[in-house]
Amino acid sequence: MNQIAELCRDLKKDFKPKIQNPASPVSCWSEKDLLDGKVVDAFVIIFRTRGCSWALRSGCSMCGYFNDSLWEKISDEDMIRQFDTVMEKYAGEKFVKIFTSGSFLDEKEISSKVRKKILSRLVETADKVSVESRPEYVKEETLSEIKDIFQEKTFEIGIGLETANDHIREHYLNKGFAFDDYKKAAKTLKKYNFKLKTYVLIKPLFMSEKESIDDAINTVEKIKNITDTVSFNPTNIQRNTLVNYLWRRKQYRSSWLWSIVEILRQSKKTAPNVYIKCDISGGGGIRGAHNCKNCDHDFLDKISKFSLSQDTKSFQNLKCECHEKWQDLLDIENLGFGSLINI
Ligand code: SF4
Ligand SMILES: [Zn+2]
Repeated sequence: MNQIAELCRDLKKDFKPKIQNPASPVSCWSEKDLLDGKVVDAFVIIFRTRGCSWALRSGCSMCGYFNDSLWEKISDEDMIRQFDTVMEKYAGEKFVKIFTSGSFLDEKEISSKVRKKILSRLVETADKVSVESRPEYVKEETLSEIKDIFQEKTFEIGIGLETANDHIREHYLNKGFAFDDYKKAAKTLKKYNFKLKTYVLIKPLFMSEKESIDDAINTVEKIKNITDTVSFNPTNIQRNTLVNYLWRRKQYRSSWLWSIVEILRQSKKTAPNVYIKCDISGGGGIRGAHNCKNCDHDFLDKISKFSLSQDTKSFQNLKCECHEKWQDLLDIENLGFGSLINI
């Protein structure tokens, strides 16, 4: 185990999972998203599971999803109860997005029996269902079962690659897999004609703002012929994570919204045929991506609009006095060896 893996594991040593009802889902709601180039209502389901198997071993340096996981096996009966509860709110949306704060294809989180039941029911009404998984669970036998259910309908798998750079992924993020593992999973899922969404992280630990912008854009360049969608996730500082540990010691700041706009603009130019989006959790807050307080709202609004329209003109009228401060930071941050974090 390398040092960052040990740190991530040690930070969870005294963590006590909350007492939660295993039959109750985390949440569900309806929101706008793109389906075949049109803005539609999408139904979002967040299931409660035992948690991401990787997080239970050590976990990624920025991920605090485990805070809401159960940390013990949930029975198939309870998982089905969770599904029945969310289906009471399902209004037949054509696009359904499933999250487990881990991997939907990991048998330890969701058994194949439950997975089949959920997908078979959703495919009756939805045209597209999207799930998330680490690459090691993207296996032929699992995909073949899903293909039998989906036939010609669209099934999408989201993989948290975070960066195409193996050094950053291993030593800054403790992600536990290589770029080649992602490429192998991408090849397997393409064989079944499934769609690939790739999550790319903005502002990993130990990187300056400028390095993080460059890394995100380089990543898009490397995956533009592999993925159908790039979904950027700016780091949101979550409890009991290494990011949180360093942030409390003033050694980390979430990314600027100016940087995100720059990344989105450049990415669309680099990969015009890839659907590029960005969901900013905790945006505008001190723990999420933010600029100065005055312009955050406007930026978040324009970034959401871009995610639906794919039109970089959405960013045309963005202005604020903090632009100069951000620009100065990009110019001098590397000279300060991290000491300029509060600029
Ligand atoms: S980011 Fe994904 S793989 Fe990493 S610990 Fe969180 S849920 Fe698991
Ligand atoms: Zn501002």
